[in-house]
Amino acid sequence: MVDLKKILFPTDFSPFAERASEYAVSLAKKYGSTLYVLHVIEQFTYIIDIGIDFRTETSLEATARKLLDNTVASLKKHGIEIEEVLLSGNPFAEIVRFASRENIDMIVMATHGRTGLEHMLMGSVTEKVVRRAPCPVLTVKKPT
Ligand code: ATP
Ligand code: MN
Repeated sequence: MVDLKKILFPTDFSPFAERASEYAVSLAKKYGSTLYVLHVIEQFTYIIDIGIDFRTETSLEATARKLLDNTVASLKKHGIEIEEVLLSGNPFAEIVRFASRENIDMIVMATHGRTGLEHMLMGSVTEKVVRRAPCPVLTVKKPT
């Protein structure tokens, strides 16, 4: 029998991700899973800059933390167990690494995110996660 003890929901706070969260929450309820809500802060734009503005970097993290707190607070209303995770780096690499390290049983994510180009089958982060994830990935399309 398939058991889903740990479900990972990576979010970029887009409406697409919010819709995917409905599937993540429903599965977590049904299987009694812990839901890991993960956001990855992309910092490479700062690394390639010559002058790093520390304040900008800090406010980026504070903003991400606030958005993640809000997302988690609203998902907690469904009465499931939630772990909040904030990482920085390359989104797909961190998502895959986290899934391996934590023995995640399933990843639930949207096909699209903040860029949201509809002519693309899926965004670059989702595509790379599907290719390299150590577990099944449920990809949620935008409602037609
Ligand atoms: P692209 O980024 O390739 O231009 P896109 O933004 O439409 O296109 P993705 O970035 O692949 O598509 O986003 C698809 C899903 O991947 C999002 O709904 C979200 O769940 C996840 N995702 C994207 N970026 C991050 C991130 N920084 N942290 C966590 N999850 C992310
Ligand atoms: Mn994106």
